[in-house]
Amino acid sequence: MSEENVLISTRSLTKRFGSKEVLRGIDCDIKMGEKVAIIGPSGSGKSTFLRCLNLLEVPSGGTVTVNGELLFGSDMVEKGDSLAAIKKQLHDLISGEYSEEVRTHREEAEGVKEDIRRAKEELGDIKTSIKLLALKEKRSRGTAAKKTVESGTSESKDTDGSISSRLEAARAAYTAKKADIASLSQKLAGINAKIKQKKAEARGAADREEIARLTLAKREAAQEFRMAKRGHAAAMKRTNAAIDEHRRNMGMVFQHFNLFNNLTVMENIMLAPVALGEKDMNKKRGELLKRKLLGEDVSEELAALPSRLEIEENAKTRAKRLLKRVGLEDKADVYPSTLSGGQKQRIAIVRALAMNPRIMLFDEPTSALDPEMVGEVLEVIRELAEEGMTMVIVTHEIGFAREVATRVLFIDEGVIKEDAPPKELFGNPKDSRLKEFLSKVL
Ligand code: ADP
Ligand code: MG
Repeated sequence: MSEENVLISTRSLTKRFGSKEVLRGIDCDIKMGEKVAIIGPSGSGKSTFLRCLNLLEVPSGGTVTVNGELLFGSDMVEKGDSLAAIKKQLHDLISGEYSEEVRTHREEAEGVKEDIRRAKEELGDIKTSIKLLALKEKRSRGTAAKKTVESGTSESKDTDGSISSRLEAARAAYTAKKADIASLSQKLAGINAKIKQKKAEARGAADREEIARLTLAKREAAQEFRMAKRGHAAAMKRTNAAIDEHRRNMGMVFQHFNLFNNLTVMENIMLAPVALGEKDMNKKRGELLKRKLLGEDVSEELAALPSRLEIEENAKTRAKRLLKRVGLEDKADVYPSTLSGGQKQRIAIVRALAMNPRIMLFDEPTSALDPEMVGEVLEVIRELAEEGMTMVIVTHEIGFAREVATRVLFIDEGVIKEDAPPKELFGNPKDSRLKEFLSKVL
């Protein structure tokens, strides 16, 4: 298989909606001329995959390459994920800090600290009262001595005794309070030791290095994430033009036809090609006028540019040819509401073909049709396939897939579970989920 043949390829393509992982790593190459049928249960991610191929949906991760050109490569998402993973690892590692046990010990320590603070305050009060009592005692001793000298008695003995006994009691209280504080301090030291131990246990003996390593890794991952973010923005800007080009090369047909009901069939078909033709023409004219300003003679090239009328005529001619091809040339001027479902879908196919795409993507193009109209639409798709159009078609029409597809993918739970030519995939299914699926639809 040659590389140049690959039109679109995806690698590790993922898509999340919120926390829901819809695509979980799709590796797929679609080569020129291939007709790839996609089957799988409802909700397995088939439509999301098609929409990611078209970049109608921005993938969450992985790459989309078209003609060898990277159109989507979000290493930003991956870098962001790895940063988050390291942050979580680090948090888990040091979460000893936040464990229930450590938290309880910390509260206990706070209580003891408060007790110590209060005890120290009381100690201060006791100290003050001791000073005051000592002073009183001294003074009363002096007074007593004087009185004794004056009267020869010692009347104030009672008072003296009361002061000294109060002083004695205060001194005892002081010693007791000091002992209290010492024991509280010891208690606090015990609790702190426990906290330290619990944290050490949580971190593990050798984990100091691990923490240092993770902290460094976190810093690096954050740096890479920032750079990827910047690179992503630049790449998106650069590839926006390429994405436009890519989209125009892809025709997309949905289950519901998405025709504009207020436009005629012809207007529906001409809308996009005319808009695009004018855009291209204006761009070319702009470039030519720039060259003219620089002194170049571009009059011939300017004259050769198509007029708006010519662009419209070309689009109309092509539309008519395509309408004829699907057998609906007489419907050019009617409104879609007058058409049957099968006719509407054939018009939708013509509208996609009018852009001259290199690949057609069909998302269950016949699922919304009445059974008698399925055939006429499949017939148009079959003819396109026979003419060599590259196509990817999500379908429940197993018979059609078996007949027309060159390759069938079975998508289940956001991954490709089986990828094989139809003969092999239908004749000899290997995946158990595929067997189960086929037993229901066949
Ligand atoms: P399939 O086409 O195989 O039936 P889809 O690709 O349409 O599956 O959807 C796959 C899953 O993704 C479904 O569960 C669907 O609900 C979910 N999903 C699709 N598009 C969105 C969206 N825009 N937002 C949220 N969830 C979505
Ligand atoms: Mg779908």
